Amino acid sequence: MASGAASPTLIYILGLPFSGTTLFAAAMGNSDGVVNCGEISFVEKDFMPWKRCSCGARLAECGFWAPLRAEAARDRAAEKPALALEPEAGPHPLDTRMLPWHAHLRLFLGRPLDAVFPEAELRDYAARHARFIRAAARQAGALFVVDASKSPRRLEALLRHGDLPIWVVVVSRQPDHAFGALLKRARRRDPSHWLIKAPWHLAAMVYHLRCMDRLRRTLPPDRVIELSYESLVTRPGAVEATLSHWLGTPVCFKVEAENALPMRGQHVYTGSRWLARLDAGAPTVTLRPPLAKPELTPAEARLFAAARRLIPALKPRPERLLPPEAPLRPRSAP
Ligand SMILES: [Zn+2]
Repeated sequence: MASGAASPTLIYILGLPFSGTTLFAAAMGNSDGVVNCGEISFVEKDFMPWKRCSCGARLAECGFWAPLRAEAARDRAAEKPALALEPEAGPHPLDTRMLPWHAHLRLFLGRPLDAVFPEAELRDYAARHARFIRAAARQAGALFVVDASKSPRRLEALLRHGDLPIWVVVVSRQPDHAFGALLKRARRRDPSHWLIKAPWHLAAMVYHLRCMDRLRRTLPPDRVIELSYESLVTRPGAVEATLSHWLGTPVCFKVEAENALPMRGQHVYTGSRWLARLDAGAPTVTLRPPLAKPELTPAEARLFAAARRLIPALKPRPERLLPPEAPLRPRSAP
């Protein structure tokens, strides 16, 4: 394990917000030889020494994050490229929505990241994150590191300017259900303006889908797989088999009785809010079947139906699942 752990493979989860990406990463993190680090794009921004890790410990005392933090501090003192796991660290502009409108427009129109960010900055970003990913793999004794960051922009930076082998899982969810989940969260945050803002949320969703689709077309076909949240929660065995065949290594979610997905042994503090509500003593999350209907009001459902007629990206996406007994394929070199 030690020699392999020096060059881990990154499993990057790409998907829309509220489409089950955190759950997918948690499921994959239960496999032997795989470590789930959550949304690595936010490990700097969300790091607070007193914050709880999903293992129940505070980050400053967590057996996974505390050594990584100490190593990162040593690296930075030696002027090596490293993440800052410190309270004052903010997000990189690449990982925020707060770009100028013209930068968003250029990315939407298909310009590469280099047209928006200086190349040296992208190289530094990729180098710091690759160093962290290698350290996380070493710390966990893992061959694969799962990054649930979702963002096409981050993936492009790591692909074009980094040196890690990257395999991409595109997690899809029925688009109207993903839109419903997005609006539900938006209404909770801002109860007075949700109706006016619904078209903006839809536009942001289309923007994200467009950037995702453009990037995935540039990937070698054997390095990308499309799987759905609906399959994960209703047919986890078939999803395990499909992922095992694709990666060439056994993937096991270790689903327990009553569809409970254990989180024991995982150390995650970025991503969906349900992570913060895990019971530290027996942390599990239940795989529940999807709702029969999306959580949309009639007006929102009409808006979505009209948009779907015009925008093919809003249609459900194809998925090819293997039966649970499917054999592994030989793993190609990274
Ligand atoms: Zn922990």
